[in-house]
Amino acid sequence: MAKLTVNDLDLKNQRVFMRVDYNVPMEEKDGKMVINDTTRIKETLPTLKLLISNGAKVILAAHLGRPKGTKEPSMSLAPVAVKLSEMVGQPVAFVDDCIGEKVEKAVAELKAGGILLLENVRYYNEEEANDPAFAEKLAKLADVYVNDAFGAAHRAHASTEGIARVVAKSGGKCAAGLLMERELKFLGDELENPARPFVVILGGSKVSDKIKVIDRLLEKADSILIGGAMAYTFKLAHGVKTGKSLIEPDHKGTALAAEEKAKTRKVNFQLPTDTIIATPVDSGKLNKKGKPVYDLTNIRTISGDIPDDAEGFSIGPETSANYAKIIAGAKTILWNGPMGMFEDARFAEGTNAVARAVVEATQKNGAKSIIGGGDSVKALNKAGLGDKVTFMSTGGGASLEFLEGQELPGVAALSNK
Ligand code: ADP
Ligand code: MG
Repeated sequence: MAKLTVNDLDLKNQRVFMRVDYNVPMEEKDGKMVINDTTRIKETLPTLKLLISNGAKVILAAHLGRPKGTKEPSMSLAPVAVKLSEMVGQPVAFVDDCIGEKVEKAVAELKAGGILLLENVRYYNEEEANDPAFAEKLAKLADVYVNDAFGAAHRAHASTEGIARVVAKSGGKCAAGLLMERELKFLGDELENPARPFVVILGGSKVSDKIKVIDRLLEKADSILIGGAMAYTFKLAHGVKTGKSLIEPDHKGTALAAEEKAKTRKVNFQLPTDTIIATPVDSGKLNKKGKPVYDLTNIRTISGDIPDDAEGFSIGPETSANYAKIIAGAKTILWNGPMGMFEDARFAEGTNAVARAVVEATQKNGAKSIIGGGDSVKALNKAGLGDKVTFMSTGGGASLEFLEGQELPGVAALSNK
């Protein structure tokens, strides 16, 4: 069902309560919390500018970290107000609470086009508990509710779900922000009836994390390309030795069932034909968590069985060349999960080669390329290719649940068109 968006609203002088994702990485420097990456703030600017230019009174709510109901100073959103003000080019008021009289007074003082950021909603346990009385207190601040925090939409919390119910009940509209609208368009509508061939690339660490997505996409895709550690469970199910690789023996049946479904549906289901392995050797050192550190020695490419003392860390060059060929013919591409342990440069090439193929199909053939999953987005950015695909989800866990076909509570709570 299509959801109402900010473009459908009459905003003039309305108190617009907008849930945003300002869960930015912070670090303490000289006794002050400093924001390390402002991407999440930047991503809300289009919606904010639209609200401001239409004369809305903007009230922003967000969470930061996991303060678990305590007023943990290092998780205050105060530094975000300062940064946002710089980025949006106008003052941003801040109150050190998100409900109550002080907040209501600050909201009453807001002028059309003004912005107020509330303190971390997770300073209250009632937020994650989706407490109805707490949601009522938040809703008291709003004529209209907007959700632009796709990354938090898979949680039914007071500021993502409860408040929308209250606002809607009293006749107010609840709409998607522009960022949320794009997520729903690319991860939802665009994949409903994709231009074909539709090629799905799935990797990451675990079959169990991705099986629901695999299952759903087996009903839509023309080709599915498997990589990452996940591939080893498929290999294991075929009786191939996987050495010390990350595997899930309990999911051999899951893997075989997925392949069976691919066969019946005539989906071109590809597993890696070669893999990059290394022999882990105990370095005798311990990491910060007190766990032994292994040196990854004797890095080499093999096909077939992985020796008992070795571990697989990425798809090999033959596999990435084969995958690149299939990707080159695609009109729609969905990618979730890296092809290897890309965080270590020695095992990043498989992921990077696939990334280059995706970019080329996008730029040369006009394929639509959609990237979901936190680590997949990281991998693309690390390769410097983040801005060369059609869409990168901001969702992480939310994008995975959405791709599984689940209804996200934060989306379900928005008004229908
Ligand atoms: P996403 O966040 O994009 O959904 P996942 O969280 O499922 O992706 O998987 C990403 C993680 O999988 C990365 O941290 C990567 O290092 C790891 N990974 C991929 N392949 C391997 C492998 N062969 N061995 C160990 N870890 C792997
Ligand atoms: Mg991940």
